[in-house]
Amino acid sequence: MRAPEPLLQMALRVEQDIFLVRQRGREVAAAVGLEHQDQVRVATALSEVARDLLRIVDGADVTFLAVEESDARYALRIDLAPVRPLPDDGYQPQSGAVGRLVDTLAVSRDGGDTVVRMSRRVPATAPELPAARLAELRAELGRSAPASALDELATQNGQLIAALDEVRSHRDELAVLNAELEETNRGVMALYTQLSEELEETNRGVVALYAELDEKSAQLRAASESKSRFLANVSHELRAPVTAIIGLGRLLTDSASDPLTDAQSEQVELIRSSAADLLSLVNDLLDLAKAESGRIEPDWAEVDLRALFGQLRGTLRALATGSAVELVVEEPPAPAVLRSDEVLLAQVLRNLLHNGLKFTEQGEVRMRAEREGDRWRISVSDTGVGIAPELHERIFEEFYQVPGTSRPGGTGLGLPYARRLVTLLDGTLELTSEPGQGSTFTVVLPAGEA
Ligand code: ADP
Repeated sequence: MRAPEPLLQMALRVEQDIFLVRQRGREVAAAVGLEHQDQVRVATALSEVARDLLRIVDGADVTFLAVEESDARYALRIDLAPVRPLPDDGYQPQSGAVGRLVDTLAVSRDGGDTVVRMSRRVPATAPELPAARLAELRAELGRSAPASALDELATQNGQLIAALDEVRSHRDELAVLNAELEETNRGVMALYTQLSEELEETNRGVVALYAELDEKSAQLRAASESKSRFLANVSHELRAPVTAIIGLGRLLTDSASDPLTDAQSEQVELIRSSAADLLSLVNDLLDLAKAESGRIEPDWAEVDLRALFGQLRGTLRALATGSAVELVVEEPPAPAVLRSDEVLLAQVLRNLLHNGLKFTEQGEVRMRAEREGDRWRISVSDTGVGIAPELHERIFEEFYQVPGTSRPGGTGLGLPYARRLVTLLDGTLELTSEPGQGSTFTVVLPAGEA
């Protein structure tokens, strides 16, 4: 590439020229768009190299150029051509701190001549330097008269003071930042300590809560176990004497025994029926205790709902005859087979049908079964007294009977027992009912693979 036209040329021969070179260097740097800091850097590097050359080879010719770089940006290049050949031991201006002030600084060969060359790139933010602008700069620099060495010294002093100020303000800023950082650190540490204390506190609370919960559930388990054990023992112990009373009553009224007076036989009959009620209570209690203690193991097998329904229809029909209530057991849709325990399921359904008949004055009690996806829904609905919504859960509690509805022979144990059994069969027992609108109890059971 053709060497660009110099922006300015000057001779370095005597001591004062060093100041001049420095001053003009700064001017050219400013003219091509270098920032203030860079102008000072270039001027300083230039005056240092100039001092060296004056000492080693009695001076140089200094040329300032704006050279275009590969990326269309410019760099300020300064060539110092020594007036005498440089000594052989090699002058290396770039070796000291001066080298760091500019982008490049080296002794280089330009054709046959040796020059000391330095350059500094003009930042991308600087205005562009088209040829016309460069010509303008050349003219301006040619016109401006160099100031005296004293002026340059004053400028240099000013720059030094400004640089010192800047360093000081940086140091102050740093001190402020450090203080802020320390403050923030203290704040973060305090927050951290507070948070970990709170966390620890919360953890302790949670641990205590869990311990309490464990203790309570252990107590609950123990209470439930002792209740089952008590029920089982008491019922068992009661069964024998109650059975004996019933037997003795039968003996007393037997035709082979001595005849009793009417009043006596009435009283014996009363004893017998009370004992029979007691026996049914004892039996119910025993069943429930057995179911609760987990001693009932379902005997899983294929259950044919049609057969089971037929059997229940037969045994319960007698209960409904003569009353104003019709018992309807619908035929389940075929194939009505599921995996369950036939005996337990029959117990549950019998219990529900019994209740339906017990609490219905007129109308009907209807049992039907329907398949719904992978489950069977067996419902027993009646047109009886119905149950208020707030009692829907209570009637599944042991001994609970809706006030005013108790019937002779009722124990309040049938529904809790039924629900237990349904749970054992992996199903649920649901209720929908409104007072005066009748009730529907629904047993939902998995169909199983059958
Ligand atoms: P029991 O029938 O021996 O009293 P259950 O546990 O079977 O005991 O029922 C508890 C209570 O739930 C009954 O006393 C009754 O008040 C109410 N109940 C049960 N089934 C029905 C029903 N089909 N219609 C109205 N009330 C019912």
